[in-house]
Amino acid sequence: MDTIPEILLKQKAFFKTQKTKEVSYRLSLLKTLKQEIISNEQAIYEALKKDFRKPEFETFISEFGLVISELNLVIRNLKKWAKPERVKSSMLTFPSKDYVYKQPYGNVLIIAPWNYPFLLAMEPLIMAVAAGNTVVLKPSELTKHTSQLITDMIQKTFPESIAKSVQGGVETATTLLAQKWDYIFFTGSVPVGKIVARAAANHLTPVTLELGGKSPCIIDDTVNLKLVARRISWGKFLNAGQTCISADYIIVKSNIKDAFIETLKIEIVKRYGKNPKESPDLPRIINKRNVSRIADMMDESQVIFGGDIDVEDCYIAPTLIDSPDLDSKIMRDEIFGPVLPILTYNTEQDIEHVIWHYDKPLALYIFSNNNTFIEQTINKYSFGGGVVNDLLIHFGNHRLPFGGIGASGMGAYHGKTGFDTFSHNKAISKRGNWSDPGVRYAPYKGKFGFLKKMFKYFS
Ligand code: NAD
Repeated sequence: MDTIPEILLKQKAFFKTQKTKEVSYRLSLLKTLKQEIISNEQAIYEALKKDFRKPEFETFISEFGLVISELNLVIRNLKKWAKPERVKSSMLTFPSKDYVYKQPYGNVLIIAPWNYPFLLAMEPLIMAVAAGNTVVLKPSELTKHTSQLITDMIQKTFPESIAKSVQGGVETATTLLAQKWDYIFFTGSVPVGKIVARAAANHLTPVTLELGGKSPCIIDDTVNLKLVARRISWGKFLNAGQTCISADYIIVKSNIKDAFIETLKIEIVKRYGKNPKESPDLPRIINKRNVSRIADMMDESQVIFGGDIDVEDCYIAPTLIDSPDLDSKIMRDEIFGPVLPILTYNTEQDIEHVIWHYDKPLALYIFSNNNTFIEQTINKYSFGGGVVNDLLIHFGNHRLPFGGIGASGMGAYHGKTGFDTFSHNKAISKRGNWSDPGVRYAPYKGKFGFLKKMFKYFS
């Protein structure tokens, strides 16, 4: 088996052959990948079930279905996206025809997390290949079955010189990061994101960081509580809350807090029954270490619903926490599990006080029917992206760029934005030879006034 430097060497050599610049070649690879994924549909469901008991239904809507629709989109549009884009030329470069060429960066490294192990490995891989790059992908070591399946599918679909999945943990990731890549795409936690950014800086490699954070969900008193509770009971507990854009905590207007909590309890029971442990629809926490991490964040005296934990079974019940302190353990770090703290507000300053207490989040959600409040909130706070009157769904529209800001990440992808992320915009001006105005040439004497007028007029 080749070592990591040997794999990269092969990919570097292959990139130089110019083969990946052929759009028809990229398309044939992507079509083969699509067939491979479709023929493995059942195996994908089984792998995710084995890894953390993710229900088929959730794997379809949040992994398999999204990957197939991204593939369909890119297969339909790649020729158009990859074409040099003609832009208006400037009178200052007259005569010229100007273009932006979409060029692959070269050799790309993708490091993926465990929480949506198929989606978050495959989606960047698809767009990196579509843009004409070679890829080394490291899927998560915590989802063994899914990562093995991904590795097998990639091996069947791509020559090693184009794409290769390398499995392993921190040691493997460290070796990968020590190499000189042309682009690094990382999805994972903030602390590891910093390690990746430092490694990228050593080689001045551009990097996309898709990180996490504490994403707030604000609920005012103009809403239909039943609808709000229904939507939150879906978005918060999907994937057992192990979603980077999950609502980390609620800030609800204090006059409707009690009614909101009661309605949410009813909705949670409707989704998962009186004993959620027996529900086939609630995934498990990825491993015992993460169960203990979340359990350690919880202060029992503040649990007002749920709270059951079974470390051996990697189970945590959907849990509600009442009014934790902003500096308490549950509010310090991203929860990344089915536990929902509920805070209250009376004034907009109360909301500021909470949100500005933390780093810029990856998502922000507003449940309200007050347009002024909605627009003010969207404009006031810095966050990656969000939804008004629901959770998570912005992830599902390929026309919306997906990414963080500040501590929740840098760069974006999804749909055409993903293709653009893995493409360098090469600016080309093609100068016409039929005219060559003499004003720029020395001697400059007598030309300065005319030059200034020209700049004023044309710039
Ligand atoms: P993680 O940072 O622990 O691991 C992510 C990847 O980094 C894994 O492949 C892992 O092997 C690798 N890694 C771990 N330690 C490393 C090290 N020292 N050096 C180099 N690589 C290392 O994250 P995770 O636990 O897999 O995922 C959960 C986190 O990811 C959460 O914070 C979540 O918010 C975030 N996340 C963000 C997005 C997004 O799109 N923004 C999506 C999913 C998850």
